[in-house]
Amino acid sequence: MNYTISLIPGDGIGPEIVAEAKKVLDKVCAVYGHSFTYKEVLLGGASIDVHGVPLTEEAIATAKSSDAVLMGSIGGDAKTSPWYRLEPSKRPEAGLLAIRKALNLFANLRPAYLYQELRAACPLRDEIIGDGFDMIIVRELTGGLYFGERKTVEENGVRKAIDTLSYDEKEIRRIAVKAFEIARKRKKKVCSVDKANVLDSSRLWRKVVEEVALGYPDVTLEHMLVDNCAMQLVRNPGQFDVILTENMFGDILSDEASMVTGSIGMLSSASLNETKFGLYEPSHGSAPDIAGQNKANPIATILSAAMMLRFSLDLDREADAVEAAVQKVLTDGYRTGDIFSEGTVLVGTREMGDLIAEAVK
Ligand code: NAD
Repeated sequence: MNYTISLIPGDGIGPEIVAEAKKVLDKVCAVYGHSFTYKEVLLGGASIDVHGVPLTEEAIATAKSSDAVLMGSIGGDAKTSPWYRLEPSKRPEAGLLAIRKALNLFANLRPAYLYQELRAACPLRDEIIGDGFDMIIVRELTGGLYFGERKTVEENGVRKAIDTLSYDEKEIRRIAVKAFEIARKRKKKVCSVDKANVLDSSRLWRKVVEEVALGYPDVTLEHMLVDNCAMQLVRNPGQFDVILTENMFGDILSDEASMVTGSIGMLSSASLNETKFGLYEPSHGSAPDIAGQNKANPIATILSAAMMLRFSLDLDREADAVEAAVQKVLTDGYRTGDIFSEGTVLVGTREMGDLIAEAVK
């Protein structure tokens, strides 16, 4: 099959890690007989340097005309980079928020997977880790408290701030459908997280999720209160498969879940819209401190490319092959600096990309 992919190298280590992900995708094409047409898109500081703004209309049009977008990371060192002398709406991060909005990316997916080879980096005790864990957090990204009406007022000399948390059933239904569809590709378990003992928005959330579940009799649904979920993530993370939750709860829980895996250079993410289209990027930033030094770990970006194969292109077998290649290279003992430990073999960004590409079968 032929697919068109927009590539956003971005800033800092972005170009280095995207080059390695492309290397792996090229190998996937060679092994499985596909062809990918790449269109490069400027975003963030890279776009400011050329166009004076962090995102152009042409960039949005190019991204929209492709089957999926694969991104490195954007941004620079806030203390030294000239990009941060611009007003906030012209800075690199504004471009990222704008492209997410322009592409209507309402579903954020963040897997948290513990590689047995990296157990030592996990801050949890061995008996809690058990056989490890493999979960994905499906977070609603464009509604709820972060997008509700807000204001700060003064009443009788007392300052008061108001944020509004609102969800309508359509917003809940579309993210729930995503979670159930994803669960079908995994262990078929959805844990919907809310605060239904207190919040009206959560009570509606629960009702709508139950309605959606009727269409997925092969998937098990359970509900969990957010405070309990925060506890269970460090008490027994192995119990989770797909965690479905609203924007703010997801913001907090996905950071907690990623912390328990121990390594930022390994964490992929995806943001999807109502079709199969999505933007795929590592969870980490542009690491300006190690940019251009062949030190960055490209695995989070390579695993993001695997998510792209699975969720936007429906190439599950090829996604499995990329994930297996990452697993093999770790089992063979190769590590970039961020995940290096004694007794393993230290490699650079390019070598890690070569090894993973070679291991794609
Ligand atoms: P960061 O994630 O870039 O770096 C934090 C630390 O982790 C650094 O020591 C860095 O060297 C290390 N690190 C990160 N990714 C790594 C990798 N792949 N391999 C090895 N080490 C890695 O976070 P930060 O320093 O707070 O932010 C730097 C810039 O990135 C800022 O401009 C910030 O706004 C931007 N940022 C962008 C995104 C994005 O593009 N989605 C996300 C977060 C931060």
